[in-house]
Amino acid sequence: AAKGDGRGVHRFFSDEMLAGARTRKLLEDDLRVAVAEGAFHLCYQPVVSTKTVRIVGYEALIRWNHPTRGMVSPADFIPVAEECGLIEAIGEWVLRTACIEAARWPDGIRVAVNVSPIQFANPVLPAIVTSALAQSGIAPRRLELEITEGVFLDETRSSEQMFKALKGVGVRLALDDFGTGYSSLGYLRNAPFDKIKIDQSFVKGAAEPGNRNAAIIKAIVTLADTLGMETTAEGVEVQDEIDLLRDLGCSHIQGYVYGRPVRAEEAMRQLGVENGTATASGFKVSRAP
Ligand code: C2E
Ligand code: MG
Ligand code: MG
Ligand code: MG
Repeated sequence: AAKGDGRGVHRFFSDEMLAGARTRKLLEDDLRVAVAEGAFHLCYQPVVSTKTVRIVGYEALIRWNHPTRGMVSPADFIPVAEECGLIEAIGEWVLRTACIEAARWPDGIRVAVNVSPIQFANPVLPAIVTSALAQSGIAPRRLELEITEGVFLDETRSSEQMFKALKGVGVRLALDDFGTGYSSLGYLRNAPFDKIKIDQSFVKGAAEPGNRNAAIIKAIVTLADTLGMETTAEGVEVQDEIDLLRDLGCSHIQGYVYGRPVRAEEAMRQLGVENGTATASGFKVSRAP
């Protein structure tokens, strides 16, 4: 799919192209250059509390402005980076940059960072996280790591140890894209998640009469509540969905309805931060239900 896949980034590479080894090799070579030259930046998408209708944090999303192809979607290049061993360097850069940029936001505002299963399998991750926190000066509770069910695929004792280590550092953990992978409720029994992110495929159409997604969302929220976890609904695009999700008890909302991913400076403006101090109008989102 090209532009218009709804993710806000142009998809230059079609699935067929990516399947071709040549395109993949070209992308890999360009990625190496991009890593060396620092050609990435982060955008931040607001996460809003359904209770207060205020921004409580942002998710950091990587962007790559390719010199000739323009914006390349992370959905295209992250899998390549994972295969060719570049994800470690990219992931560390994302963690450090997100913490440094979030350090300029008001104190309670969180930042969420996506962590690849490959990073999660590397015992060095807790040290990198600790270092990123120290370097930026943000409190551990302000950092939330988003991991997908992919981390459970090669289930060994190591994922259990990683959870322990990260909890020891004091960061928050979120289970991303919940319900799309090889969902097993067993994951929730043993893993210390602070939050479940309900995948956007369940939000799509949920507000339409008779749509079965609402029942699934309700079940996920009930489960999360019982386990003491927060819930963020992803990909929320219209007011009807906000109303439904609030009624279903979902604690947080993220999606174009409250804002597309923006650069760190624009996030500062959304938060009402000027010259390092929050203004009285800060944090309030414009589209209250
Ligand atoms: P994700 O972590 O589930 O991120 C949410 C994606 O949904 C983002 O796409 C975001 O722009 C998009 N989105 C947000 N609101 C809406 C909406 O209302 N409607 C629709 N249709 N889409 C919405 P993006 O930025 O293209 O990222 C795609 C995926 O790439 C992410 O999914 C994540 O899995 C991965 N990714 C992005 N940044 C990073 C990163 O720094 N590290 C790693 N490992 N993965 C990343
Ligand atoms: Mg995410
Ligand atoms: Mg997600
Ligand atoms: Mg996703």
